[in-house]
Amino acid sequence: MTCEFSYDHYFETVSKFKNGSLFMRHDIDYSFEKAYEMALREHANGIVSIYMVQLHSPFYNPLTQDNLRKLKEMAVYHDLGLHYDTRCTPTANHIYSEMEYLEGQIGCKIKNVSQHDLVMRQNRTYVTGDLFKMSHHYISDSAMHWREGCFCQHTNRWKKIQVLAHPEYWSEHPKKLSGVLAGFLTDDMQRLNEQYNNLHTHLKKYYAEREAELHQKAKEGKTKL
Ligand SMILES: [Zn+2]
Ligand SMILES: [Zn+2]
Repeated sequence: MTCEFSYDHYFETVSKFKNGSLFMRHDIDYSFEKAYEMALREHANGIVSIYMVQLHSPFYNPLTQDNLRKLKEMAVYHDLGLHYDTRCTPTANHIYSEMEYLEGQIGCKIKNVSQHDLVMRQNRTYVTGDLFKMSHHYISDSAMHWREGCFCQHTNRWKKIQVLAHPEYWSEHPKKLSGVLAGFLTDDMQRLNEQYNNLHTHLKKYYAEREAELHQKAKEGKTKL
């Protein structure tokens, strides 16, 4: 097996873990779209995992009309949790209130949380259901770098293992981190460009119609006189 961030390698590896030994976790850091894609692919392959959602990401908004619909669909196939950031959610109370808010938005129970940004780890706030309290061995593909070797090298090593895989890094045609991020930038620029063009078209149409209406009213007023 070649170790790369391809869907082929991902699904082949997941299938090699013994039943019940693997706890698959996905923190959504940059791309909601990639998380949604991974969720559908996993579902098609009979895999159930947990997706941790941020509410303060500068890169995506999980609560837009479209993303909320996708989140609700993801909740049917998988578990969802909160991926909190201590810079915005500094205390356990803040975390609980965001869990509740997310529950209200999606309509499913949020039982787990994970913390975003390892640099902030010294400020960790533990709350009920925190995945780090599990006794599983833990490995992560953070920044596309498996510190203890790719998860394919762990398939038979542990009784229970929690694997954190960021959906952003995995694709049909794997790229390096710089290429992955550049791809998101291109996608975002295209999406924003479309949004602003649509907004412009909508506003132009609205004001043209409003002007025509005012013009018509003025004309009718004049006729009455
Ligand atoms: Zn591998
Ligand atoms: Zn994160």
